[in-house]
Amino acid sequence: MAYDPNNIFAKILRGEIPCNKVYEDEHALAFHDINPQAPVHVLVIPKGDYVSMADFTAHAPDALITGFMRAVGKVADQLDLVEPGYRTLANAGVNAHQEVPHLHIHIFGGKPLGPMLNPNFSG
Ligand code: AMP
Repeated sequence: MAYDPNNIFAKILRGEIPCNKVYEDEHALAFHDINPQAPVHVLVIPKGDYVSMADFTAHAPDALITGFMRAVGKVADQLDLVEPGYRTLANAGVNAHQEVPHLHIHIFGGKPLGPMLNPNFSG
């Protein structure tokens, strides 16, 4: 899928619409999800035009990949999630219900999160 420069996270990165910022460095921006699914729900996005994890890992420069992943870890630490634990998740494509076509890692925490996926799944 080609990158759409008008997606909402691209607009946030360009400062065209606001976000509730948690962390920013040269590689990444983190902000609170507008529709939180847990007491802590933060999104971390890379500063580059990448639709998905596959696109990012295939095409981003090494420094950006490293910096982005470090930013995810820093945000979890900054939010005091490391000791109690937290979950990261990146949706990609139709089957995962990816809504915004700019790579983002969700960070969930602030309470016991339960099983990762549908516990009734039987294959
Ligand atoms: P996904 O389904 O993985 O693409 O998740 C997209 C996420 O972006 C959802 O959890 C939305 O609530 C969130 N979201 C959409 N627009 C905004 C926004 N303007 N600011 C913060 N979060 C947003």
